[in-house]
Amino acid sequence: MKPKRLPPGATIGILGNGQLGRMTALAAARLGFRTHCFGPEKDSPAEQVSTEATLGDYRDRAALAKFFDACDVVTYEFENIPVEAVAAVAKAGHAPLYPSAKVLATCQDRILEKSFLNRIGVATAPWMRVNSPAALARAVARIGRPCVLKTARMGYDGKGQIMIGPRASLDAAYAILKGTEGILEGFVDFRMEISVVVARGRAGTACYVPVENRHKHHILDVTLAPARISKALSRKAEALAIKIATKLDLVGVLAVEMFVTRDGRIRVNELAPRPHNSGHWTIDACPASQFDQICRAIAGLPLGDPARHSDARMKNLIGDDVDAVPKLLADPRAILHLYGKAEARPGRKMGHVTYLKKKSRG
Ligand code: AMP
Repeated sequence: MKPKRLPPGATIGILGNGQLGRMTALAAARLGFRTHCFGPEKDSPAEQVSTEATLGDYRDRAALAKFFDACDVVTYEFENIPVEAVAAVAKAGHAPLYPSAKVLATCQDRILEKSFLNRIGVATAPWMRVNSPAALARAVARIGRPCVLKTARMGYDGKGQIMIGPRASLDAAYAILKGTEGILEGFVDFRMEISVVVARGRAGTACYVPVENRHKHHILDVTLAPARISKALSRKAEALAIKIATKLDLVGVLAVEMFVTRDGRIRVNELAPRPHNSGHWTIDACPASQFDQICRAIAGLPLGDPARHSDARMKNLIGDDVDAVPKLLADPRAILHLYGKAEARPGRKMGHVTYLKKKSRG
């Protein structure tokens, strides 16, 4: 179903109240929309800048229905929300949900996600479903070591996954699933991790240049835009992201995380049907950011221009990295974004800083 064109002053609902919701709300305001965020956290990053906020539990169908009724369209800023409750409310006609509940269901379960990708001809690491210790032993025998065991659902920032090396105990590895379903993946000896953010609206797609991602302790640390890969590979990565968004019949924004192997092939790792940390640079380096695009796409408006006017380097400020803010501010070229989080816990994304550079190539 195509999204209805919303007039200025309409309300965009955001499920989730973290920094992605915050930056979506800021972009929405610039486009003349109101926002209403829904989530469990008080004085959250999104609440601080939204027109309205509802404090609620994602499983509370009555609260969700009331929230949907107060919005003209609803989106979500993270994929680990219980899809059943949200799908039921969206289906009952309270307000449309974009990306659809079907996209959310596919992307929040690694088994559904990888099955979908392989079905449309997109290469991933070899993988097998694991639902018992015996299934894990079979999968390790088939795929070989090293390999990576991941929970099928609710994983993020390296949580819910374990690498299985030559001598690792399978019993100990199996324990991380805590009785839930998982998948075993072959280890990809990658040269680089890249991602592509693509928006899809009423009339086609808008794709950002592939970017290079470096992680620290499984959390994104630095994004370089563009990724230092050949033009041909860059085109291939963009084409893959556009194909995936189109086959999903996406309305919204999708991030496609990919590995570039040492022999120059692409293996898709993961999909996120929402703005993504590796797309934050677009706020400062592109005419339309990933947050502008999500608002435009779900409000039935034409997409904005994703072509960058500058190259960019984005650095996350994680935990007590924020202590360096006074020093960062002393550099006038540092474009600082803070998320309004009061407490700097280890591993917590507190903000990011973007540096722009003259564009290197087309
Ligand atoms: P994920 O939660 O699937 O995004 O994985 C988090 C990080 O773990 C990735 O960004 C990679 O650095 C690493 N990783 C995950 N899966 C694999 C794999 N099959 N082979 C090699 N590294 C992986």
